[in-house]
Amino acid sequence: MPLNPVASPRQAGRLNVIAGPMFSGKSEELMRRVRRAKIAGVNVLVLSHSLDTRSDLSAITTHDGINIPAVPVGDVESLAEVTRAEDYELVAIDEAQFFGPDLVPVVFDLVERGATVIVEGLCVTFDGGPFEPMPTFMAEAEDVLKLTAVCTICGRDAVFHQRVGTPGLSVEAWEPSATDIDASHVGGLESYVARCREHFAPPH
Ligand SMILES: [Zn+2]
Repeated sequence: MPLNPVASPRQAGRLNVIAGPMFSGKSEELMRRVRRAKIAGVNVLVLSHSLDTRSDLSAITTHDGINIPAVPVGDVESLAEVTRAEDYELVAIDEAQFFGPDLVPVVFDLVERGATVIVEGLCVTFDGGPFEPMPTFMAEAEDVLKLTAVCTICGRDAVFHQRVGTPGLSVEAWEPSATDIDASHVGGLESYVARCREHFAPPH
């Protein structure tokens, strides 16, 4: 940082993180911020992963069906390309865990070039471990909002989500590895539940 920030051609931006387990309202919070920015006339780009099958391909859809327009991208390379098309003031990334650790340098490059980036995603896997790249973003962000869901057994704050299986298949039979970045992490109420620390029962 220069001593006199006014002398800088464009000041560095900020990284804001919204993290939590499934059902914690992360996408709703992201959309709330995007709506506010749009009202304020900010040049906003909203990106989602095209793997997120909950969404139609041009919008972020939350569990309660609200949506806002988003550009679907299939990988980090395409994401970086889309961000370069214009000088965006705010870049919002939905379900960032789908992009994997390669997203980290791309986000910090955007921030260094002056954009405010909001990264929203799962920070915990279904078996209770850290889910990169969110923990890295949380460590280096200017602002972190950590949300919890509601335990479906006792109603207390839930920091975990766990898989509850699907008819005709045992949970063991279709358990991917914790770091699998695929559609199995999207899901809805039918395959995952929010759990507090006491009621969380990891698969292994
Ligand atoms: Zn509980």
